Amino acid sequence: MSRTSAPGIRLESVRRKSGGRIHLTPRVPKSGPVTTLCGQILDSSTYVEVEEAADCANCIRRSRDASRISSAFFEQEEGSELLRLSLEQARFRKPAPRDTPASAKPSARPVVVPPAPAVPDQVGELVTLGFKAAGNGVWRSPGGVVVRMAGKGKEKFAELVFDGAVVATRLDDGMRLRAGDVEVTNTAGDVQVRIKRS
Ligand SMILES: [Zn+2]
Repeated sequence: MSRTSAPGIRLESVRRKSGGRIHLTPRVPKSGPVTTLCGQILDSSTYVEVEEAADCANCIRRSRDASRISSAFFEQEEGSELLRLSLEQARFRKPAPRDTPASAKPSARPVVVPPAPAVPDQVGELVTLGFKAAGNGVWRSPGGVVVRMAGKGKEKFAELVFDGAVVATRLDDGMRLRAGDVEVTNTAGDVQVRIKRS
């Protein structure tokens, strides 16, 4: 039912009950209308999710454009800021650099690397070790987990987005969530977000 188009983004196929082309959508809602990538809004009782590959040319073309997928998603429902960020990230992700060709001349000028700004060990509920700050309270782990902190000083855990394995475990006095290389624990109301200790 899902297939990959723009990197890291899964799409689903829908078709009108009356037949016709198979369209793509970022997500088939449990109920309510669905917005296709080609911009059609199908009312809740008029479409079905299908397993077959899409054959709507507009949908297929737009499936290669992460910003289109993002806007289709947001027309359909109010998504989180994080989803938007991960879509943007997918859009701008560049292929891994190749080895420098032998003909490339080394730069004559020394490369000036600005010192990284100092990051405190802990920002509220987040243990920053291993995370990269993406600005505005958003942090990224080496494993591709995106964490958004909110509140005053961006010190409170708000959201986590990860396209991969997630395990939630009940603890005596709370819960632990492991998503990729990130661990969120909530014990007796104390929340901590950190890179998982191996
Ligand atoms: Zn379509």
